[in-house]
Amino acid sequence: MPLVDLDRFDFLYANRVKGMKSSATRDLMATLSRPGIISLAGGFPDTRVFGEEAFREISANVAADSAQALQYGPTSGLEGIKDVIVDVMEAEGTRAYAEDIFLTTGAQQGLDLVGKVFLDEGDAVLCEGPSYVGALNAFAAYRPRILHVPMDRAGMIPSAAREALKKARKQGIHVKFIYTVPNFQNPAGVTLAAERRLELLEIAREYDLVILEDNPYGMLRFEGEPAPTIASLEQRSGETDRVIYLGTFSKIFAPGVRLGWVHAQPGILHKINIGKQGADLCSSNLSQMLIHSYFKHADWRAYVKRLTLLYKERRDAMLDSLAEFMPNEVHWTHPEGGLFVWATLPSYIDATAMLPRAVAKNVAYVPGEGFYANGTGKNCMRLNFSFVEPDKIRRGIELLAEVVRERMEL
Ligand code: PMP
Repeated sequence: MPLVDLDRFDFLYANRVKGMKSSATRDLMATLSRPGIISLAGGFPDTRVFGEEAFREISANVAADSAQALQYGPTSGLEGIKDVIVDVMEAEGTRAYAEDIFLTTGAQQGLDLVGKVFLDEGDAVLCEGPSYVGALNAFAAYRPRILHVPMDRAGMIPSAAREALKKARKQGIHVKFIYTVPNFQNPAGVTLAAERRLELLEIAREYDLVILEDNPYGMLRFEGEPAPTIASLEQRSGETDRVIYLGTFSKIFAPGVRLGWVHAQPGILHKINIGKQGADLCSSNLSQMLIHSYFKHADWRAYVKRLTLLYKERRDAMLDSLAEFMPNEVHWTHPEGGLFVWATLPSYIDATAMLPRAVAKNVAYVPGEGFYANGTGKNCMRLNFSFVEPDKIRRGIELLAEVVRERMEL
C-alpha cells in the first residue's frame, strides 16, 4: 500500500474539525476484535440475548408492510412509534405526549442536533467531569467551551455547577445548557441523587438555561430505588419547558436499529426538525417499524428485565474481582445499573500510556483522558461489564491488575 499523507488537505479543512478528535474506543475497535482479547473497552449491550427467532418474527411483521418500511418517512418520525415511546417514558415515570416526541438516529444524533441548535462558537456547556465522550465529540463540532463540573458518588455537585455558572457570567461567557447523564453515568457509573436533580432544575431556572437530560441507561437498574427523571420533576412543578430529554432504544432493545428520541417543548423541536432535515431527512422507517412491531406485540419489559439480570451478574463479577485483584491504591465506583465502572489509579499512572501493555496482555479498557475536554483524567479508566461473560471479566481484571502492579513497581 502506498503511504498516505493524512495531513494533505489540512489547509482546506474547516476550523471546526481541528479541535475534534476521534474517540479512543472507536479507534480501538479494530484491535479489540482480535481473537483472545478480553475487551472491557466497548459500550456494547449484549445483542446476542435477543435471538434469531425473535428477530425473524418481528422482521416478518415488517415485511407485511414492505412498501412503507422501504420508504422515506416524516422528519419527526412515524406516528405509531411515538405511542411506544410514550409507554417507555411512562415506565420511567415521565408523562410524555406524542406531539412532543421527535425521532432521531440514535440519541447520538440528538446530542449533535442540540449542539447544532444551541451552540455558537465560544458558548459554553456545563458537563459532568468526566462526561460521555460521544457528547463531547458531538458538541466539539460547534466549538463551545466545555466547563466540567466535578462529581462525587451522588453525581454532579450542584454547588460546583453554581460556582462555574457564576464565574462564566462574570467573564461574559454564555452558558447555553447543562448536559447530564443522570443514571449510571457513562463513563463514571454514578447516579445523580434525586435532590440534586431538583437543585439542577432550580439552577437552570435561576440562570435561564436548558437542561439536556441524556438517559440511555435508566431502565437498566440492578438495585436501589429509581430516582425521578429531571423531565418528570419539571412536570411535577407544572412546567414542561427547559428539560430536553434524550431517550434511546439502543440499551433496552438494540443499538443496531440506531433509533432514539428527543422529548422537548415544541419551539425547540421545531429547530431540531430543521437541523435534522439537513442531516439525514428522517430516521429509518425500517428501524421504526421493527421496534414498533416488537414493542407492541412482545413483552419488552420482560426483555429489559432479562438484560438487567444478565448485566447485574456481570457487574457483580467485575466488582468482586476488582476487590480481589486490584492493589489497595486503586479505587472504583459502584454502579447501581448500566454498563460501566470507573476506576481511579494512583495519580502517577498514565492509563493511556499503559494501554498498549494491557493490550499485549490481552485485556483492554478505555483510558479516562478522553472523557474530559481539559486533559485531566489521565489516571482513570472506564471498564465495561455488559458484553463479556463473568469468567472472562474475572480473568480480564486479574490481567489488568498485573499490569497496574507492574506500573506501580516501575
Ligand atoms: N448518550 C450516552 C450517555 C451514551 O452512553 C450513548 C451510547 N453509548 C449515547 C448517548 C448514544 O447512544 P445511541 O446513539 O446508540 O442511542
